[in-house]
Amino acid sequence: MSDFQFLAKLYGVRGSYPITPEDGTKIGGNTTCFMVRSPEHVVIFDAGSGIIRLGQELIPEIIEHNKKNNKPFHITIIFTHTHSDHLIGFPFFTPIYMPNVHIHFFGPATLGMDFKEILSMQVLPQFFPVSMDEFRCGKSFHNINENMFIYFNSGEPVPQVGYLNETEAAFSSFSIYPMKYYLHPKDGSYIYRVEKDDKKLVFATDVEECVGGDQRLINFSKEADILIHDAQYTDDQYKQFAGYGHSSLSMACDAAKQANVKKLVLFHHNPGNSDSLLREMEKTAQGLFPNTELGTEKWEWKL
Ligand SMILES: [Zn+2]
Ligand SMILES: [Zn+2]
Repeated sequence: MSDFQFLAKLYGVRGSYPITPEDGTKIGGNTTCFMVRSPEHVVIFDAGSGIIRLGQELIPEIIEHNKKNNKPFHITIIFTHTHSDHLIGFPFFTPIYMPNVHIHFFGPATLGMDFKEILSMQVLPQFFPVSMDEFRCGKSFHNINENMFIYFNSGEPVPQVGYLNETEAAFSSFSIYPMKYYLHPKDGSYIYRVEKDDKKLVFATDVEECVGGDQRLINFSKEADILIHDAQYTDDQYKQFAGYGHSSLSMACDAAKQANVKKLVLFHHNPGNSDSLLREMEKTAQGLFPNTELGTEKWEWKL
């Protein structure tokens, strides 16, 4: 039996590109990957290099499932957007090579191209030796949009899609709501709110706040228990990178304050920032919003 009803866990916390600095990093060098799950549903946000370790961790559970079951093991992968730091781990996610696995992919169509086509492009023979239809897992693809939400019923491993104006089934185990975020080059990104009973967690990576805070993001995150927010830069670094689609730590704190969230987790760290600088940033942020912590590859939240 699992020791949780619901688990949220970070597997990759860096922006831009993965790193292994000479002096090491305890915070973590992998790019964006975040998992939420119940004992029976596995949902992954983004496939940065962090998804590789997550895939390896899932293998014993999949093998165990397959021993008792001839139905596939279902995994849902939801993308915020398809910049390379959110994708590079995808072809190395071991479960895609397993025939008794089914993966449900959700992500944004971008610049007129369907999400399925975008993801398949990453593994064209020019870029990778194994193509999408050669991966042995079962696959389904969905374009995400703001008028829909994803939910999971207990006893039913397949993600369900609901549409606004419809109420989700009362017996749903947890639900995920998307919001398109426009201020990320060049076609925006999606942020997601996960709701489990009365608990709320918002995953807002690759967002750049604006003067006074982005009111759509703030409303979307209102009273959340956890806000995982882009904080790529120190306030000083931000001056050089305004317009690049990422926030400073002060911007993240301001959004957390305005949304009145219970906890802020700083995320999508600049790969050039050392562990000691990141710890300093955490302290500065705690001066602005006391219940702040740094997102690390060991961070988790259990219910
Ligand atoms: Zn990114
Ligand atoms: Zn991005």
